[in-house]
Amino acid sequence: MAATPEQPATTTPRRKAGRHRGEGQWAVGHHTPLNGNEQFKKDDDGLNVRTRIETIYSKRGFDSIDPNDLRGRMRWWGLYTQRKPGIDGGKTAVLEPEELDDKYFMLRVRIDGGRLTTAQLRVIGEISQEYARGTADITDRQNIQLHWIRIEDVPAIWEKLEAVGLSTTEACGDCPRVIIGSPVAGIAADEIIDGTPAVDEIHDRYIGNKEFSNLPRKFKTAISGSPVQDVVHEINDIAFVGVVHPEHGPGFDVWVGGGLSTNPRLAERLGAWVPLDEVPDVWAGVVGIFRDYGYRRLRNRARLKFLMADWGPAKFRQVLEDEYLKRPLTDGPAPEQPSSRWRDHVGVHQQQDGRFYVGFAPRVGRVDGSTLAKIADLAAAHGSDRLRTTVEQKMIILDVAQDQVDSLVAGLEALDFQVRPSPFRRGTMACTGIEFCKLAIVETKARGAALIDELERRLPDFDEPLTINLNGCPNACARIQTADIGLKGQLVLDDDGNQVEGYQVHLGGALGLEAGFGRKVRGLKVTSAELPDYVERVLGRFQEEREDGER
Ligand code: SF4
Repeated sequence: MAATPEQPATTTPRRKAGRHRGEGQWAVGHHTPLNGNEQFKKDDDGLNVRTRIETIYSKRGFDSIDPNDLRGRMRWWGLYTQRKPGIDGGKTAVLEPEELDDKYFMLRVRIDGGRLTTAQLRVIGEISQEYARGTADITDRQNIQLHWIRIEDVPAIWEKLEAVGLSTTEACGDCPRVIIGSPVAGIAADEIIDGTPAVDEIHDRYIGNKEFSNLPRKFKTAISGSPVQDVVHEINDIAFVGVVHPEHGPGFDVWVGGGLSTNPRLAERLGAWVPLDEVPDVWAGVVGIFRDYGYRRLRNRARLKFLMADWGPAKFRQVLEDEYLKRPLTDGPAPEQPSSRWRDHVGVHQQQDGRFYVGFAPRVGRVDGSTLAKIADLAAAHGSDRLRTTVEQKMIILDVAQDQVDSLVAGLEALDFQVRPSPFRRGTMACTGIEFCKLAIVETKARGAALIDELERRLPDFDEPLTINLNGCPNACARIQTADIGLKGQLVLDDDGNQVEGYQVHLGGALGLEAGFGRKVRGLKVTSAELPDYVERVLGRFQEEREDGER
């Protein structure tokens, strides 16, 4: 179940390279679209839908939208139709997509590196209140998602976002998604290297660029020079992890091919050390391999992890060097083990410059528009203009003078954002769930928030790093396989034989020190109503029977 970062666990055995010539790889001549997604991408680039949104759909309304744009290309601009209210989870798999579609959208604002100014946060808050019925969720990839968006309002929203340097470009779709960056890049006192210039250069060179706007599936990037390794690098398509080379100094170790969902797989090291200024070229080489050699025949085999499973890191590196970079990479060491089990930067920490950053914990990433504005005001009132989002659905306010810290902490706690939260508040994440997601089977956000409150009441003395992740379906948007307690939403039978909302339990997953996937506990399913009792029992037994140092 567990493996060190030097020898990551894999769940897919390596197969002989070259066996899958019929996988729809462009590089071996398979240009004929083999499924509906490949067809609509070939018919028109996803990025081109913006013009139609601005000139046609926003003026003529929802019903004028071409179905291939509605359920396909609009994702390239961060737009998904949301679930029609009132459809229960039992109908998710049986209804046609159009029957699940509401006439409103989720809009994902990409926040590369999780970096926000107070002005940007205020604008997101204003958009939330004016166009999104006050909704705003911090995602586990540092984005902020809004709901209830009308197509008529999208051009005005883009105008407001872009006026402060934000965008929704390629926030979803088969393209390079938000670039996750260490939320304490450039400020943490213990930083190995600041990856921010690489985040910016990749963004400026390649996001919204048609060179990489038709990939086989989504492509996820993470860059961190923090010894905490705070970007879940193990489960990204490509990750650059800070490391010190004995001869060349600080740079990045390259990891490729991670991903969760229904075939989870940890990324593998290429064994290569890359200096900061070469990160964008290596990134582009890996994305190029994915575009050209990625499997396009079947959607459920199209992520880069499947190619990596077949090629292995040695062949992957060889192709990268020979065909894309045209030069060899430098061998490099593996990163040290992460320096902390909590990787979220919650709490008060000193910066390189002597000031402080203050990380705080909303419940399961849920905030709202007016609260975002209050957070921006609070930061500004305490002398800060910069904030960060984290991959644990948390936030950080930067650049706080020492004599302002206590007042800021009190202000955050008055908004119900705890700086010293319980392990339950700190370690529980939830995906969007049935409230808005068309694939969902069960409720997640409200259930997760209620679980936190209940566990705080029942186990006030529990004081161990702990992750409890809730998903609304078998996908893995909230990373259930890598949580101590992972809860996969599904319908289950209660004691009276009725079908009710519940969860399949996975236990013992982790990232970092002992990265590996949780064990699906055979037959162990809990109803939503039983969830607090079940988690309390697991944690109670853990406290009684754990050995020294056991997580
Ligand atoms: Fe939707 Fe499933 Fe992802 Fe949750 S895990 S957001 S329910 S697709």
